Parts: sequence; structure tokens; C-alpha cells
Amino acid sequence: MKDTRARDRVSRLCEYAMRENVLPDLREYARYCEPGYDDPEGLILSADWNDRDSYDAATRTRVVTDNRPRRIGDLLERLGCELEWCDEWTACEECNGAIRTQPDSMSWTPSYVWEDECTIVCTECAEGGAL
Ligand SMILES: [Zn+2]
Repeated sequence: MKDTRARDRVSRLCEYAMRENVLPDLREYARYCEPGYDDPEGLILSADWNDRDSYDAATRTRVVTDNRPRRIGDLLERLGCELEWCDEWTACEECNGAIRTQPDSMSWTPSYVWEDECTIVCTECAEGGAL
């Protein structure tokens, strides 16, 4: 991200989201480790970007209680960040690259390996190519 002002705004938004616990799962990645994804100029971030809501028994509807996750996400996207969902992506333990863990198509295949029960690495790191 070349624009210093945009970079500062992204930092402030992320700091706010963490401080106020708006995006508890917010995570930043160093790069994409998934085939078909180009690294954006801005940051690669994952979180739960959905509005928070609760069930209103009286009206039997879900009522939005906090729309900051989506609004912050919209702003981050406009500032050049690439947004992913925290339940579909995780980080390579070696290079902090973004690894897709949920299929996005019928032909999708994992680009990661489990080195042991709790260590996930991208295939590049597993083959020793990233460092
Ligand atoms: Zn890696």
C-alpha cells in the first residue's frame, strides 16, 4: 500500500476493531498461499465481517445489534484490503500466508498439509520452498 494516509487509516481501523472487540477474530496475513489469488496492494485480512444480531422472541426476527463489523469491512475494502472469512481461512504456521481451509468449488483441493495435529503449513513451506 503506497498511500501513507490509506495505510494509517487501515491501521487505525484495525486497532479500533481490536480495542473495542468488534472483530475478535481479526487476522492479518503476509501473502496468499492459495493458487489463483494475487496479493493485493493492501492487507489481506480475515474476520467475521457479518453484522452481529440477536433473536427477538416478540417479533420472531433477528435484530442487528452491531453493524460495525460490516461497516469496518467495507471501509477496509475501499482502502485496498482484501477481506476473507475467518472460518474459511487460516495462517501457515511458517510464513503466515493465507491458506484456504474450506472448498470454494467442486474442483478445489487443499494447498496445505498438517505437519502434526496442530501445525498447518502451506504446501510451499512443506516442500521447503518459501524460505
Ligand atoms: Zn507457508
